[in-house]
Amino acid sequence: MSFALRPENHFAQLPGDFYTAMPAEKVGQTPRLIHANARAAALIDLDPQVFGDPEFAQIFSGHRPIADATALAMVYSGHQFGVWAGQLGDGRALLIAQLRNRRGELWDVQLKGAGRTPYSRFGDGRAVMRSTIREYLCSEAMAALGIPTTRALAIVATGETVQRETSEPGAILTRLARSHIRFGHFEHFHHSGRHEQVRLLADHVIGEYFAPYKGDYPGWFGEVVKRTAELMADWQAVGFAHGVMNTDNMSILGLTLDYGPFGFMEAYDPGFICNHTDETGRYSFDNQPSIGLWNLHALAVALSSLIPSEELKEKLGHYETYFTQHYRARMRAKFGLVRLEEGDDRLMGGLLALMAGARVDYTLTFRGLSRLDENWLASFGAARGDAEAWATGYKARLAGEGERAAAMNAANPKYVLRNWVAETAIRAVEDRGDIAMLDRIFTMLQNPYGEQPQNEEFAAPPPPALCGLEVSCSS
Ligand code: AMP
Ligand code: MG
Repeated sequence: MSFALRPENHFAQLPGDFYTAMPAEKVGQTPRLIHANARAAALIDLDPQVFGDPEFAQIFSGHRPIADATALAMVYSGHQFGVWAGQLGDGRALLIAQLRNRRGELWDVQLKGAGRTPYSRFGDGRAVMRSTIREYLCSEAMAALGIPTTRALAIVATGETVQRETSEPGAILTRLARSHIRFGHFEHFHHSGRHEQVRLLADHVIGEYFAPYKGDYPGWFGEVVKRTAELMADWQAVGFAHGVMNTDNMSILGLTLDYGPFGFMEAYDPGFICNHTDETGRYSFDNQPSIGLWNLHALAVALSSLIPSEELKEKLGHYETYFTQHYRARMRAKFGLVRLEEGDDRLMGGLLALMAGARVDYTLTFRGLSRLDENWLASFGAARGDAEAWATGYKARLAGEGERAAAMNAANPKYVLRNWVAETAIRAVEDRGDIAMLDRIFTMLQNPYGEQPQNEEFAAPPPPALCGLEVSCSS
C-alpha cells in the first residue's frame, strides 16, 4: 500500500535565519522498522496499514525524502542548568514535514537521530536505541495519562552502532507535535538583538497555535504561563521528573518535550533526582514547579521587546495560582475528595509526609487508596501505626462522599513507565530482538488506569536485579 503525504512548509516560510534547510544524512544502510504507533498515526490521518509498506521505514528514517517537503533543522538557544548556553539548535533532529490533518491541525513530523546538522556542535547527530525506546514509551504513557506531550510515531533501527559510554545500537525516533518551538527559540533572537525576528516568531506561533490571542501578545504570554504551570502540576501529580528542564527543552505549547533522563518516582522522595548528571539537584522532583517559573522568567526576558515589563510581571504573577489550582484539583481527585472541606489540604499533606517518611511506592500507594487494605497498611512498615491513624481520619472524612473507587482509579494510574520496565523493553529489543515485549509494554502503558492482570508484574517496584538503574544525559 503506498501513501501520499501532503506537506505544508509552514515553518519554512519564516526567514532563513530561523533554520537550515537540508536533507537527512541517511544514517545506516538498512533502516528497519521496530515499532509504529497507530494512535499517533491517526493524528496525521495515516492508516496503520502503511506500517507494513517498506517505504514507511525509508521515509521515517530520512532515507527517502517526502515529496514537496522542505526538511529543516531549527535554530534555538537556551539556558542550561541556569546558565546561558548560547546557540544550540536541532543538533540531531530534523523537521521532515508539517502535515495538516482533517481536523485542520498542523503537525510537525520530526526525525530524532537522523544525522548531523549545522547545530550538532560536537555531537554525532545520532540517537541510541535505548533512549529512543524510552522516549517512545514515555510519550505514549504521558498521552494516556492525559498529560500534554509530544508524541512518537515510530522507531526505526539504523543498523549502525553508536558510541556512547559503550557501543550501542542506533535508532531513529519519529516525533510528532503540533510544534517543537521552544522557549529557547525566542531567547535565541532576543539575546542576539533581533527583536523583529522575535515578533515574527510570536506572530507565527500565535497565528497557528493560539488563534484567539491574535493581536494580544500579553494575553498569549499569560496563556503560556498557564499551560506551563498546569504541566508542572500534572507532572507532580503522577510523580514524573523530567530531569533536564533547560529552557531549550520547554515547549511554547506547554508539552512535555525532550525525554532524556526522566523518571517516574517509585519510592516517594520529594527531593528525587532522576538525572544522574544533575549533581546539585537543580531539577529535582520538588524543584520542578519553581523551575517552571524560572524558565518563564527567561521567556519573559526574551519577549521584553514585545510586551511591556509591567504586563509580563502581571502575567507571571498568576503562575502560582494556576499551579496550585491545577495541582489541588489533581490531588483531590487522587484522594477521592469531591466536597470541599476545611482540613482537606492538611489531610492530603499528612499522607504525603507519611509516604516520604516510609519511602513507599508513589504510584501503588495512591492506587491502593481506594481500598486501604492490609497490604496498603503493611507497605508503611515501621510507620504502619501512623498509617492506620491517618486512614481512620481519612475514612471519617470520606463519609458521605459516595461511591469513589471507580473515580479514584481513574485518577490514580496503576501502570506508569518505571525505569526497570523501560529497561526490560530495551533489553528485550537489544539483546534478543524481542519486539513482542516492547509491544506488550507499549500497549500496557496505553491503558494506565485499567486493571491488567497479565501485566501485574510491571505495576510493582523493580525486582532485585533491576534495582538502582541510573540514567544520565547520555543518549
Ligand atoms: P538535550 O540535552 O538532549 O536537550 O540537547 C541539548 C542540545 O544538544 C540540543 O541542541 C541537541 O540537539 C544537542 N544534542 C544532543 N545530543 C546530540 C547528538 N548526539 N548530536 C548532536 N547534537 C546533539
Ligand atoms: Mg533538548
